[in-house]
Amino acid sequence: MYRVLKFGGSSVASATAMSRVLDIVGSATQEGKVILVSSAISGCTDALLAIAAGKADAAVLKQRHLEIVRRLFTGEERKEVSAEVLALFDAMEASPLEEKVTFGELLSTRILYRKLICDGTRAAWLDSRKLVVKDNIPETYRRIKEAVFAADAEVIVAPGFICSDSSGKVCTLGRGGSDYSAALYAAAVQADALRIWTDVPGIMTANPKEVPAARTIPRMSYAAALDMAEHGAKVLYAPTVAPAMEAGLDIEIRNTFDPEGKHTVICAEADATPWIGVTSEGGTIRLVGSTLAKVRDGARQAGEALNESGIAALSLECEGNDLVFTVRESVKIQALNALHRCFFQTRKPEEIALFIAGNGAVGKALLSLIGKSAESVAERSGKVLRVLGLADSKHYGIGAGLVMDKEGDYVKAVIEAAPEGSVFVDCTDSETLWKRYGELFEAGISIVSSNRRSFAIPYTDFAAMHTSAREHGVFLRYETTVGAALPILSTMLASATGCDDVQSIEAVVSCTLNQILGEYNGEGASLASLIRRAQEAGLTEPDPRTDLGGKDALRKLLILSRVAGIPLEESDVEIEPAVPLKDGPLEDFYASLQEAGKDFAAKARAAAVKGCRLRFVASVDKAPGTRLGYRASIRIREVGLSHPAYFLQGTENAIIVQSTFHPYPLVIQGSGEGALQAASSILNDILR
Ligand code: ASP
Ligand code: MG
Repeated sequence: MYRVLKFGGSSVASATAMSRVLDIVGSATQEGKVILVSSAISGCTDALLAIAAGKADAAVLKQRHLEIVRRLFTGEERKEVSAEVLALFDAMEASPLEEKVTFGELLSTRILYRKLICDGTRAAWLDSRKLVVKDNIPETYRRIKEAVFAADAEVIVAPGFICSDSSGKVCTLGRGGSDYSAALYAAAVQADALRIWTDVPGIMTANPKEVPAARTIPRMSYAAALDMAEHGAKVLYAPTVAPAMEAGLDIEIRNTFDPEGKHTVICAEADATPWIGVTSEGGTIRLVGSTLAKVRDGARQAGEALNESGIAALSLECEGNDLVFTVRESVKIQALNALHRCFFQTRKPEEIALFIAGNGAVGKALLSLIGKSAESVAERSGKVLRVLGLADSKHYGIGAGLVMDKEGDYVKAVIEAAPEGSVFVDCTDSETLWKRYGELFEAGISIVSSNRRSFAIPYTDFAAMHTSAREHGVFLRYETTVGAALPILSTMLASATGCDDVQSIEAVVSCTLNQILGEYNGEGASLASLIRRAQEAGLTEPDPRTDLGGKDALRKLLILSRVAGIPLEESDVEIEPAVPLKDGPLEDFYASLQEAGKDFAAKARAAAVKGCRLRFVASVDKAPGTRLGYRASIRIREVGLSHPAYFLQGTENAIIVQSTFHPYPLVIQGSGEGALQAASSILNDILR
C-alpha cells in the first residue's frame, strides 16, 4: 500500500525545511511505502519565469540550491550532488524558453532523493515528465502504475507540476499544479492516503492573512473543497479534487510546521454545517455554502452583517449553495471580516458541570430552575449547565441520571469526577461541610453556597477559606446567604476596596420577624399563632427559636460585616432575643409565649404611640475604643417614618449602609426569602 505525501514550496524552502520533510516521510514509511511529490523550493518557479522572460539571471537561485546541498551533505556526496545541481542549471540555460520553468521541481526532488539514498533509504526517483501525460488521464495512470511497481522502493520521489503533452513535449500542469500531480499519483496506484503538506493548518474558513479569526475546517466534502479552491482559496489547486474523488480517496491538508496539529480532511461525507467558508477574488466575495435550504436566510443575515459594518454590497447573487457579493475593493477586507464574524464566529458554548449538595427546598428549586432555564441561559451567557452530581445527607449520585444510590464520601467522589471549571453547590444546612471546601478548591472546583453556616465560622477560618479559593484560581460565592436573591454581598464587595470607610450597617434580614412584627398588633392573632403560622409556611428555620433568638440574624450580620471588611466575631455581637426563649420541647416554648406575648404587645403599643414600628435589626456602628472600632447588636428597635425599614412588608429584607462613599445611605430592599429566589441567586453566582 502506498501513501502519497506532497510538499509545497515553503515546506522545502531550505535545508532545515527539507530535513523536516524527510522526518515526516520517515515516520510515514512506518505504515507503508511512500510516494513523495514535491514542488520547487519557494519562489523558484517565479524566478525561473523571470529568467525565461530575460528579466533575471540564475545566480541567486543557483546559490540557494547550492547552499541547501552544502548544509544537507558532506564530503564526496556534497561534491556529487552539487555537480548534479550545476548540471541541471546548465541544462536549464540550454533549454527552450518554455521549458525553463520545469527545472525547479527537478532540482528540489533530485536533492531530496539524493538525501534519502544518502541516509540509507531504499529510494527511487521517477521522472514525471515521462509519466504524466497532460489531458490523458488513463495513459497517465497506466504509466505511473507501471513505473511505481517496477521501482519497488520504500520511498519514491517524483517532481510535481511537470509533465508532457500527448506529442511528448515537456510542459506543466499549471501554477500550483503539484497538488494535482500528487492526486494523479495517488489515484493511479490506489493509494490509501493523499496528504498535502503545506504551511497553513489545512483549509480555513477564510484566508488567515485577511481574516485573523479564520479557523481550520476539520472535515469537508469534495464539493465544498472544490468550490473554495476554484474561487480564491489558494491552499489547494482545484483540479486536485477530481482524481481523488473518483478514486474515493480522502485528501488530508496538513501543516508541515505542525505535523500533528489542526488539519483538514476532504472526504465523501456531506458537510456538517450549512456554511463552509468565505473566499475572495478581487472585489468578489463568495460565501461557500453546502445546502440550498439556507441560501435565502444567509442572504438576509449577510446583508445585515455588511450593513452593520457600514458596507454596501454592489451586487448580491445566489449561485448554487453559495452567495456571491461584490464590494468596492477598498472595503473587501472589512467585508470579509464582517461576514466571517457573522457566519463562523459563533463560539462553542462553555460547559459548566455542577455538583449539588443538599436536596431540600433550595436544592429542588435549583434543579427545576436549571431544567427550565437551560435554553435561555445558553443563549444569554453562552454557558451550558450540566448537573453531574446530587446528594442529600445520606446518599449521592454522580453522572447522568442523578440516581442517588451511593453512600459514602460525596466530596471525594465529586473531586474524582469533576471536569475542569466545575462548580460545587452547597445548599445544605450542614455545620461542617465548610471544612471540606479547601479540598474542593485544591481540586480546581469553585463553590457557590447558600449555606450561611459555612461562613459564620471563626474569622480566621473564614479568611483562610477565601485565600485558598484565590490561590487555586477558583471562586467562592455566597450571595444567597444574606437576603436571598437581593444583590447585597456583591454590592458590599464592590465597595470593599479598602478605600471606603463604613459608618454603619443596618440589616433587617430576618424574614420570620419581619413577617411577625408586621402582622402583630396586640389585638388580633396571638404571638404564638403568628410564629406557628410562619413556621408552617416554611419561613422560619426548622426551630423558630433560631430566628427569634437572633441566631440566624447573627450569621447574616457576621457575613455582611466581614464582606464589608470588618472582621466581626460572634462574641462582638450583643443579642437581645425578640422574645424570651424557653429551652426544651418546642411546645413548651409556644406555651411560654402566653406571658411573653403581653410584654411584646406593650412594646408594640408604645411604638405606635410615637408613630413608630418595630423591626428586628442587626447592626454594626462605628464605636471608637471597642475591639474592632465597631459596636454590633441584634435587637428589636423602633423605627420612625423616615427610616428606610419603616415601610417593609411581609418577608421583605433591607440593608442600609452608610459610609464615606455613601453619605446618603445605600439601601437595598426587596424579597428576602423563598426557595425560588435562593435558587435564582445561586444560578447568578454560578454564571456571574
Ligand atoms: N512550483 C509550482 C508553482 O509554484 C507548482 C506548485 O508549487 O504547486 O506554481
Ligand atoms: Mg500550492
